[in-house]
Amino acid sequence: MCGILGVFGSPEAARMAALGMFAEQHRGQESCGMAVSDGRVIRLRKKMGLVKEVFSDEALAELPGSLAIGHVRYPTKGSATAWNSQPHLLETLSGPGFALASNGDLVNYSSVRAKLEAQNVYFNSDNDGELLLRYIALQMQEGHEIIDAIRSLMREIKGAYSSVFATRDELYMFRDPLSIRPMTWGKTASGVVVVASESCALDTLDVQERQEVPAAGIIRVNSKGITIIENDPDLYRNIGSDRHCIFEHIYFSRPDSHHFGEDVFAVRQKIGALLAADDAGLDPDCIVPVPDSSNFIGLGYAARMGVPLSLGLIRNHYIGRTFIKPEQTIRDESVRQKFNVLPHFFEGKKIVLIDDSIVRGTTIRKIVKLIKAAGASEIHLRIGSPQVFHPCYYGIDTPSTAELVANRYPLEEIRSRTEVDSLKHISMADLRNAVQNPESYCYACFNGDYPLPPKTGSEA
Ligand code: AMP
Repeated sequence: MCGILGVFGSPEAARMAALGMFAEQHRGQESCGMAVSDGRVIRLRKKMGLVKEVFSDEALAELPGSLAIGHVRYPTKGSATAWNSQPHLLETLSGPGFALASNGDLVNYSSVRAKLEAQNVYFNSDNDGELLLRYIALQMQEGHEIIDAIRSLMREIKGAYSSVFATRDELYMFRDPLSIRPMTWGKTASGVVVVASESCALDTLDVQERQEVPAAGIIRVNSKGITIIENDPDLYRNIGSDRHCIFEHIYFSRPDSHHFGEDVFAVRQKIGALLAADDAGLDPDCIVPVPDSSNFIGLGYAARMGVPLSLGLIRNHYIGRTFIKPEQTIRDESVRQKFNVLPHFFEGKKIVLIDDSIVRGTTIRKIVKLIKAAGASEIHLRIGSPQVFHPCYYGIDTPSTAELVANRYPLEEIRSRTEVDSLKHISMADLRNAVQNPESYCYACFNGDYPLPPKTGSEA
């Protein structure tokens, strides 16, 4: 998963981009980067590390210009290296010319790359963003206008992409026909155009008017103004509707973001309420969410149950997202460091413990152990998503099918291995009830119904 950001028309473009990227840090913590144009040269800085580390005041001072695109990354396609970080920058004979950053994964990356390589296009990385950039550049080299180059790209590639593309004096935004990942843009009171993966970044930058980049849409921003280019209806031929990632609402996005027509926190509260509706008569002493991702699910559950939410688990905020750590050993270590229990809080209590998802089962087993050791008498575990049976091919980092705990043991065995008294996931039907337009979502990680065929051996 990653986050993108674009700024056009501010003398402080780099600083604004850094603030926006900081608001999107939850979307990727391995590396970050920014390409900034002063109208003559596009300068690039990208490094492993967090936004605040990579973009100090000194670093930002070396990125003058009024146009910036930025990216925070955690790896799904290509390993966690500086090479695979984004944005990608393409130098032309007259100096650096184009830069691109994207969020999402392509399902036909390998075949499109092979096609380009057959035309002597050379790649520096294994990252989708570079493929998008080189494809556009090749089209332009063949004489196509940028819009046509992007249109051609969108006809060729399949998958999720919320992308920003910069020339020295123009900013382009484009998004896949299924609009799988979020992407919202708007203008500040002084007319600066900002685009971000999540609206929480637009809040930080005081962007007032805002709207989502349309599915299959292309938006061009330059000194003449903003042009929203018609969607290409052909792209919809076999699909017919949006397929937003439901997991963005369940877990990935910040609760203060708004996208896919919903406030993220409100969807989470609804999920909680629907879980509680199924628990009439349970009569817990307290309801404890796994912070921070499950706080709003917990609030919804508690409100419906009529029992106040208790913050019995304390999270160390300096550790980041443990799941995002690429190695299992680092993940195990991180979970131990991440959570603590309140002293004397759990003794003799019947707890409803709420988490957003179980993937490998690592996190929750350790949390339950902690709570048991703290003296809880009963633990009833409620999960804000259905069981995860299938990997995501559109930009969420899910382990292989075999590693998913739902595929390893029956539910009852997962319950007993987790050592809880009861375990329930929200049903697919209830999850669909938690959003206004259930048909416009992708639920493939739960039900295997992939809107675009997943990678096969040759496409992996
Ligand atoms: P696991 O320990 O593998 O079962 O991971 C489940 C926990 O990681 C959940 O509590 C989520 O908060 C979080 N999580 C689930 N899916 C993801 C993901 N794709 N990326 C990052 N974190 C995730």
